[in-house]
Amino acid sequence: MTQTYPATLYDRSFDTRTLVTARIGPSTVYIQQESSTLEWKEADLDDARQLDDGSVVLQKGNLFLEVLEPGFATTLLQAFENKKLFHRPFFDRIGLKGCLIALLILLIPLLAVYLWVVPLVAERGSQYVSPEIEKQIGASWYQNIIQEHTVDTSKSRLVQSFYDSLHYGVGYDVQISVVREPVVNAFAIPGGRIVVFDGMLGVMTAPEQLAALLAHEASHIQFRHSVHAIFRELSNQLFISIMLGEYGSYGNIVAQHASKLAGLSYSRDLEWEADEQGMQLMQYNGIPLRGMPDLFRNMQAGQDTNTDVPTFLSTHPALEERLAAADQRASADSTAQYVAEAVQQIWREIKQ
Ligand SMILES: [Zn+2]
Repeated sequence: MTQTYPATLYDRSFDTRTLVTARIGPSTVYIQQESSTLEWKEADLDDARQLDDGSVVLQKGNLFLEVLEPGFATTLLQAFENKKLFHRPFFDRIGLKGCLIALLILLIPLLAVYLWVVPLVAERGSQYVSPEIEKQIGASWYQNIIQEHTVDTSKSRLVQSFYDSLHYGVGYDVQISVVREPVVNAFAIPGGRIVVFDGMLGVMTAPEQLAALLAHEASHIQFRHSVHAIFRELSNQLFISIMLGEYGSYGNIVAQHASKLAGLSYSRDLEWEADEQGMQLMQYNGIPLRGMPDLFRNMQAGQDTNTDVPTFLSTHPALEERLAAADQRASADSTAQYVAEAVQQIWREIKQ
């Protein structure tokens, strides 16, 4: 005997509701009313839907049949050929494998955004960083570096007055710190700070070389290369913070990743730009351009005898090529032969 199911028939045209019984035959549902029987062929149905609670709703024109008993759905599926009429919940239909594939499809663009788009946008966005935020970033960065090094205050003062006497005028109040470490390295920090390692001063043999180094670093500051670099480096951290709704200050993020920033490097293009602009500054201020190629040569030589990690070489790519370009430019320039006497005097004090 075929099983019958209590059901409700809704008629939308008359807004009526009738209690009926439903019975399932091959590709057909029989609906037993008081005095008549309706035959709903599978092919004539407009919709057949299984809801999350297991109940089934069939639609034919303005008539809706609702069967609450979950067993009805199972029997219906067996009797109906076209089983796709059933709209089961999304995850039931696609299965575990489908779920994983869907997840991957969603994740891949997100990963691409995280890896490529975010750093690019962040670097572009760094243009809009206000001088105040630039200073804040720089101060936090500087604090973290200085904690791990010893500042030579008297030498810092001397190199500062050396810099001031050059009158480069890059639009920033440039502050110079010399740290006691035999590394041939120097770098610029956003907002106007330059850190020079003792080892760098050690390889220099003429004042125009220090002028060249400071011109190069001051150009990084003027062109805000370090802001670009820090945004690129920390863009993913900034992205995650924003995603998690942690709107911490830039300074905090910088502080958390201080170790990463210590080894921050510029792209090859930015180095070229800083060399180019640096030599422009030198020329404009009457400093012999040979200071730049001479500095590069001394750095190369200094690296060989230095037991420390050759930071400058690794962070400043293609020194060989830069040296050749600087050489070419310096040999074409004959405007200045010596730095001013006042600058030489400070130089002698630095080298004492
Ligand atoms: Zn540089």
